[in-house]
Amino acid sequence: MNPFATHEVLNQSPPFENVNLFTTDRALVEAVSREGGGFAAKRLAAFGEVCGNAAAFERGRLANENPPRLKPFDSKGRRLDVVEFHPAYHECMAISVAEGLHCSSWDHLAEPGAKPAQGANVARSARCYIAVQMEAGHQCPITMTNASVPTLLLQPGIAAEWLPKILAREYDKSFKPVGDKRGATIGMGMTEKQGGTDVRANTTRAVPVGGGGPGAEYIVTGHKWFMSAPMCDAFLVLAQAPGGLSCLLLPRFLPDGSVNALRIQRLKDKLGNRSNASSEVEFQAAHAWLIGEEGRGVPSIIEMVTRTRLDCAVASAGLMRLILANAIHHCRHRTVFQKKLVDQPLMSQVLADLALDAEAATALAFRLCRTFDRASDPHAAAWRRLMTPVTKYWVCKLAPAFAYEAMECLGGNGYVEEGVAARVYRELPLNAIWEGSGNVMALDLLRVLQREPETAEIVMEDLSAAVGGDPHLKAQHARVQRLLHEPRLLDQRGRALTEALATLAAGTILRAHAPAFVADAFIATRLSGSPRQTYGQGCDGVDTRAIVERAFPG
Ligand SMILES: Cc1cc2nc3c(=O)[nH]c(=O)nc-3n(C[C@H](O)[C@H](O)[C@H](O)COP(=O)(O)OP(=O)(O)OC[C@H]3O[C@@H](n4cnc5c(N)ncnc54)[C@H](O)[C@@H]3O)c2cc1C
Repeated sequence: MNPFATHEVLNQSPPFENVNLFTTDRALVEAVSREGGGFAAKRLAAFGEVCGNAAAFERGRLANENPPRLKPFDSKGRRLDVVEFHPAYHECMAISVAEGLHCSSWDHLAEPGAKPAQGANVARSARCYIAVQMEAGHQCPITMTNASVPTLLLQPGIAAEWLPKILAREYDKSFKPVGDKRGATIGMGMTEKQGGTDVRANTTRAVPVGGGGPGAEYIVTGHKWFMSAPMCDAFLVLAQAPGGLSCLLLPRFLPDGSVNALRIQRLKDKLGNRSNASSEVEFQAAHAWLIGEEGRGVPSIIEMVTRTRLDCAVASAGLMRLILANAIHHCRHRTVFQKKLVDQPLMSQVLADLALDAEAATALAFRLCRTFDRASDPHAAAWRRLMTPVTKYWVCKLAPAFAYEAMECLGGNGYVEEGVAARVYRELPLNAIWEGSGNVMALDLLRVLQREPETAEIVMEDLSAAVGGDPHLKAQHARVQRLLHEPRLLDQRGRALTEALATLAAGTILRAHAPAFVADAFIATRLSGSPRQTYGQGCDGVDTRAIVERAFPG
């Protein structure tokens, strides 16, 4: 016996690793199948294995513990404006790009005249939900690249040049002109110091080199206060052209092979999302090409923004599942007062209660994904327009408090950086803040109600059919209708309406598709019962064991 060994390690859970992030996630498997992505199940199972193995989680740790560094100059003082990442970040990028997460909503564009593949968005989102559990930060350029395509398509000449590189499945981290690269990624620059939400306050100027107009070259001078993933090959930026706020594509290299005048001032020192570089940049007479008409900047970039909102909800749902599975795993192995934690009545209530929100978030996020696959269906189109801000708001806002509670299930270990809980907790507020923060989502919902009341009518009719005979869902539907019909108060009630719509929609999906022990418990605790502010309440009589087993099979 070693005389210096202080103690054996007892009663600690084994590492959470070598978990298939798809097949162990019933809520995800079922959501993917019912929303039209079932054809991808086999591939998703393989990807779930890749992202849930020990090496994948280690990659995630390394990419975050070794954040990117800005190299503004070379050793002789010449400008470089490049960012260096840890190899683990590049590995994550290579894995996600090989899976087409940066483009597979658009695979059909590779073949002239081909139609979008049914379920392509659901299948892609499921892979994003899984990949984010390996590492969340690298999903930023992945999301932006996939989302940039509809905006690029507005300018066919520019799309023809960039799409072949975007649709490639090869990650090419080299810093050189896109023509010399095997693949490309695209970022976005909207936020300036004086305004992120209010982009009309942008001061960056775009001056036409010649006559201007769609596809023409402009000189862009100004700044962006947040511009993530600055090593992307090009950025869709907003700037004031003579005709008003406009959208332009600003590449890192110019057609003659020289580096464009994009100066990276510094990288943000962020709470989380550490593997991803978020920069402050200046455009010092940089060259860019106009997408669409001058003055149509917001309508041009809005489809990109909408798709990033979907990805935020999907990513938050994925991270909720990761931290929940970690908590359940730990509680299954940890004994306190002669009993496994998972069997302690209060802990089983907390875990089951968390599992209800995780499943509801997944259900709602994937219902939204489906609408991106069914653009020609007016019901899907109405759901997409109304429920994108609702889903983004609810899932992304729920997630930080959810992660805190799940972290607490891990006790002190949850708070320590070596586990994933602390990192997930620091990551989650971001999905709520960027791409339209809470109030902005509520305002977007109100905008739909004011400008397209028929959209809300379609969704409310569909929800009315879905509530069936459930009294609590009926009551919630009536409550939403009341809120909708008090336009005088809507300005102040945007958040209440957004949340009420989200829980109503989630309740109807769970009622129709989840086991009764999940649907009953969700509806009983979220749509009726006593008010509550923390998890683990109101689940008396609920089959907590079945809910926990479903959330992460033991
Ligand atoms: C890590 C990180 C990376 C980012 N990367 C990018 C990027 O790559 N590209 C990019 O363009 N941006 C990026 N952003 C910026 C982000 O999108 C903005 O921070 C966000 O849009 C909010 O803008 P703002 O910071 O200017 O806040 P503001 O617009 O000042 O908003 C502050 C608060 O006011 C609320 N608010 C706004 N208007 C109203 C209103 N009318 N009524 C009530 N409340 C209101 C908002 O919801 C928010 O809570 C990034 C941000 C972060 C944190």
